[in-house]
Amino acid sequence: MTAKRIDGRAAAATIREAVASFVPDFVQRTGRAPGLATVLVGEDPASAVYVRSKNRATAEAGMASFAHNLPDTTSEQELLELVWQLNADERVDGILVQMPLPRHIDATKVIEAVEPAKDVDGFHPVNAGRLASGLPALVPCTPYGCLYLLNQELGTVGGLNAVVIGRSNIVGKPMAQLLLAESATVTIAHSKTRDLPQVVKGADVVVAAVGRPEMVRGNWIKPGATVIDVGINRLPGDDGKGRLVGDVAFDEAAEHAAAITPVPGGVGPMTIAMLMRNTLVAAHRRAGLADPEGL
Ligand code: NAP
Repeated sequence: MTAKRIDGRAAAATIREAVASFVPDFVQRTGRAPGLATVLVGEDPASAVYVRSKNRATAEAGMASFAHNLPDTTSEQELLELVWQLNADERVDGILVQMPLPRHIDATKVIEAVEPAKDVDGFHPVNAGRLASGLPALVPCTPYGCLYLLNQELGTVGGLNAVVIGRSNIVGKPMAQLLLAESATVTIAHSKTRDLPQVVKGADVVVAAVGRPEMVRGNWIKPGATVIDVGINRLPGDDGKGRLVGDVAFDEAAEHAAAITPVPGGVGPMTIAMLMRNTLVAAHRRAGLADPEGL
């Protein structure tokens, strides 16, 4: 079998167009555009690229983008004060503090300082708790994007065996909660899991969010499974630039799976699309409007 490649770029473009199509109506009703504030601390080149892409996507959707770029000498107190200021700013519907933060800043304190209604990353414990309790929440963008791709591919994951490899707060745990909410039978695997290949072999749906290049091998994949590869790992390449690979050995896994996301071009573009979606939804909820339909 050679698996279908799941096209995350196309799905992300569809979502971003849909988000943009709701903005004029929001502007008409409220007199302002939905707004996203990004906060970047320090000079990490990868983080700077991510934040620039997020700001560009916000502007392309017709939303207001407020970029705050701070030096890596910024103190924890100064960063918290900026977050409080953004919490109070009526033009701002979403606040995104780019991770990782410099080591002298406690990321947990910063995440907890963000007003939950503006927490478009979905990392605040209130949103994590609401997701786990089956209440409306702002859901972390990457796993939400994975769920979108799975639903698009399979219609529903209800009743399927899903294995999520990884239990981080930003990907693995919310992914498992989303799958459970959709009535999948969910196993969460991690670094202490015994006989991971055997665990994965039972899965109709595999979501790999590990951060280890090509760790998941083709012969772990149940024939006909759907594989979502969250990993982004850069390997040294002959051209000096290196190449990106996922957590799944793509060519091998594609021999067994029915459908699989490539890296790049799979989950990656979905993260920004879902950030745009979360910002639009947060804006509607804050304005007392119903959630935009179909997003
Ligand atoms: P993380 O916080 O480092 O978590 C990695 C998880 O993998 C941990 O739960 C860890 O288990 C588990 N793990 C590590 N080694 C393992 C092994 N040998 N067997 C089984 N499980 C193992 O990483 P993350 O933030 O969730 O990100 C995971 C990957 O997704 C990274 O490659 C990251 O770059 C990528 N990512 C992509 C996007 C996107 O937009 N596409 C967004 C976010 C992250 P323990 O808990 O036991 O340590």
